[in-house]
Amino acid sequence: MSSSSAKNTHILVIPYPASGHILPHIDLIHQLVIRGGLDITVLVTPKNVHFLNSLVSLHPTIETLVLPFPSHPNIPAGVENMQDVTIDSFADISIAFGQLCDPIIHWFRSHPCPPIAIFCDTLFNPWTHRLVSTLGIKTIGFMPTNAQFFFNCFSHLDSTPSFANEITLKTKDNWGLLINSFTELEGDEKFKSIKGFMKHDRVWGVGPLIPIKAGDKERGGPSSVPTDELMAWLDSCQVDKSVVYVGFGSQIRLNRQQMEALGNALEKSGVRFIWAVKNDHDHVVVPLIPSGFEDRVAGRGLVIRGWVPQALILSHRAVGSYLTHFGWGSVLEGLIGGVLLLAWPMQVDHFSNAAMLVDQMGVAIRVCEGLTSVPDSENLMKIFTESIKEDRSERIAWMKLREKALNAIKIGGSSYKAMDDFVTQLQS
Ligand code: UDP
Repeated sequence: MSSSSAKNTHILVIPYPASGHILPHIDLIHQLVIRGGLDITVLVTPKNVHFLNSLVSLHPTIETLVLPFPSHPNIPAGVENMQDVTIDSFADISIAFGQLCDPIIHWFRSHPCPPIAIFCDTLFNPWTHRLVSTLGIKTIGFMPTNAQFFFNCFSHLDSTPSFANEITLKTKDNWGLLINSFTELEGDEKFKSIKGFMKHDRVWGVGPLIPIKAGDKERGGPSSVPTDELMAWLDSCQVDKSVVYVGFGSQIRLNRQQMEALGNALEKSGVRFIWAVKNDHDHVVVPLIPSGFEDRVAGRGLVIRGWVPQALILSHRAVGSYLTHFGWGSVLEGLIGGVLLLAWPMQVDHFSNAAMLVDQMGVAIRVCEGLTSVPDSENLMKIFTESIKEDRSERIAWMKLREKALNAIKIGGSSYKAMDDFVTQLQS
């Protein structure tokens, strides 16, 4: 039964099934719901329902529309999330999801109070136009990255037939576009250019979206180590900002040489650390942790295999720096936590994120670059030791940016006002 109220505006949210996409959608939905006047349905496939636990426990009126993941010749049966495949599958996942058009149309037509808009990851743009033109409703695009990324996509748009070009081209057809960033970081000009490309003004910078907290509900899945033990370990670290966190998001897997170089650097640096490592995509190959490593660093370093409560780690006072792949979600979590970023961009938007924050703004430190590059252990060791010093110029500049970010999302701040304006325009 629907809880939609006749006076509310109903929207259907369709997140792309990858942690770096679903999680910011959830944080965004939370912001929308607390403004009131909206009824929200979120579409997920069965294996991604758990991502919504925290959101639904905070906002029980949110409806979940669960549809089976459509089969696709290039996606192994049972896979429903990018986490279980490599980046090459991102287009196939979007194409597979496109087969949900007819079930969505069916759901829409049988709903007593159907949505007036679809709020959709821009990665689904290649098929959502069919949906919205059939249903006569609006699409709002949300791709959880920054304005620089959109600016680059629009600037490099050409007539070559490619999935990336198709997404960008169709983004122009979106009624509105939300961006998880803020004008104080990227400047008005970039947002103005994007509005120019879109040929309308309905482009809003609403970030940084803050990770929602919902009691004991864990973000993105259960932690592979008990969260209270992990927090107790961090609490036991006497010196603030003295722990280095190492993690590469949900998608990246390091090879043996990279793991060895990283392990060597952590071991020789003498710093306290948490290192999050993942099993291979097939869940069979165990993490390539250097032999005997954990015994040698016992007491000062934690190696966590599997899912970690990253947003909690990054907001702990003991954590000072973060070696990251520079996924935008992780960058913003590091900003909110006031944790200095050590950049190892690996793929897609990571490179432009690092170009902006390291090269142009000098608020982060570059450590390595590329999916298969192996960092120099000696150099990395020195960077780890340096990274927890208070007086690094990058840290000082990063903390100033953090203040601007927190002001942007406060009542009256640029992102706060943008979110209000979006909701008002959507309802008018
Ligand atoms: N994440 C997490 N635990 C993990 C790995 C990832 O909570 O073990 C979260 C992380 O906090 C972030 C998201 O997953 O919110 C990853 O998004 P990001 O854009 O940084 O990278 P991606 O995984 O898409 O490469």
